[in-house]
Amino acid sequence: MCWLNGTIIPASEASVSVLDHGLLYGDGVFEGIRFYNGKVFKLAEHLQRLFDSAKILQLAMPYNGQQLTRATQALIDACQWSNGYIRLVVTRGQGPMGLDPRPCHSPNVFIIVGQLSVVGDDIRKRGAKVIIASTRRLGADGLDPRIKSLNYLNHILARMEANVAGADEAILLNAAGRVAEGSADNVFVVRHGELLTPPVIEGALAGITRQTIIDLANALNISCKEVALAPYDLYTADECFLTGTGAELIPVASVDGREISHCNGEITQRLSEAYKQLTGAS
Ligand code: PMP
Repeated sequence: MCWLNGTIIPASEASVSVLDHGLLYGDGVFEGIRFYNGKVFKLAEHLQRLFDSAKILQLAMPYNGQQLTRATQALIDACQWSNGYIRLVVTRGQGPMGLDPRPCHSPNVFIIVGQLSVVGDDIRKRGAKVIIASTRRLGADGLDPRIKSLNYLNHILARMEANVAGADEAILLNAAGRVAEGSADNVFVVRHGELLTPPVIEGALAGITRQTIIDLANALNISCKEVALAPYDLYTADECFLTGTGAELIPVASVDGREISHCNGEITQRLSEAYKQLTGAS
């Protein structure tokens, strides 16, 4: 099912123009959101990030937060699933072929509901094989990593490198060679009992799951620091895992062929359990 500019219709019947600048130029913003037992997880945080991203792009949102909340709930009610994944997209809308956004007067807003499995259950159990991609994450001087825009090409290129290498996921470094994030997730390591993750300024999306894991670590008295990490820190980590709305929490088994000493180790398991309890996932 799909909610498109105010109407719920089957996704197969929903369409936007080939002249939509979201399609032509990646000119738009989006969110990936999950619901568990019919309840949307962290919707307020997702909407805040969406509106912040839209503000940077000076994309005039045709609906406010309350309207989008109601639309999301109506779509969940219509699809009758208890658990699922929602994609909320706002594009610049239709305009002439040139990239100037000014003639685009009607942003398109659509919400798709479906199921998303970033990796199979087998990979969740055995841990993901991860590579460090040669494709770098764009720096904040190119495109601020906090903007969740439709520009995912370098993430896709990184993911293609993982595919070629027979790995499950790719990690992107920033221009300085420090760890930024995964192609669609944030990265955590555990070292000497401490949880470490790169600061957003290093080139990571300010992941909502990332923040949830930091909050859970604090609640569980697990020391957590945001520090710059090099590939060395991944290779030598005691534990390593990826987080994201789609990914949820995925333990990492190896990075560039270096085995993580404790894949799905004690701290990963404690946080994973706490995350499941919080979301209501069984
Ligand atoms: N980084 C990137 C590039 C992503 O696409 C995602 C998924 N939205 C994340 C990190 C994780 O963010 P979140 O926890 O908010 O889903």
